[in-house]
Amino acid sequence: MKICSKCQEDKPKTEFYKDKARRDGLRPSCKTCGKIQHQQHYLNNKEKIKAQTKEYYATNMNIERIKRKDYYYNNKPSYLAATARYKAKKLHQSPDVNPAEKWLIKAMYTISKMCSKSFGEPYEVDHIQPINKGGLDIFNNLQIITRSENRSKGDSFAKI
Ligand SMILES: [Zn+2]
Repeated sequence: MKICSKCQEDKPKTEFYKDKARRDGLRPSCKTCGKIQHQQHYLNNKEKIKAQTKEYYATNMNIERIKRKDYYYNNKPSYLAATARYKAKKLHQSPDVNPAEKWLIKAMYTISKMCSKSFGEPYEVDHIQPINKGGLDIFNNLQIITRSENRSKGDSFAKI
């Protein structure tokens, strides 16, 4: 047992934090008093601690942002190459369609926008057989699906 220097209560030694610098290897005040002191410290320095926490997050968020930007710039050539490849393929796989077909394709994009507005979820025009897998940019190969469906579909053939 040991008497706490703060509350003067006789408490078992497990109620004290260890402190190697002390002769008995324990802190003079008990765990409960330590917590109260800690809380008091927080209350006395609330604004300062809050500001420090805010600053810490702001700094680290910026680091995250910089890291992401770096990743993009380091991989920019491959991003751009992939986009260029896709565009070239799409162009190559867009057969000369008649005006009616052109109108239908355009309508698909308009409908997807209308769906996004009315259902409150982004909708996209998807190529059932993906462009990257040789699919054609024609009306019969188009479907309107949600963006999340499109992301999970990826380059697979699924008709949803
Ligand atoms: Zn105490």
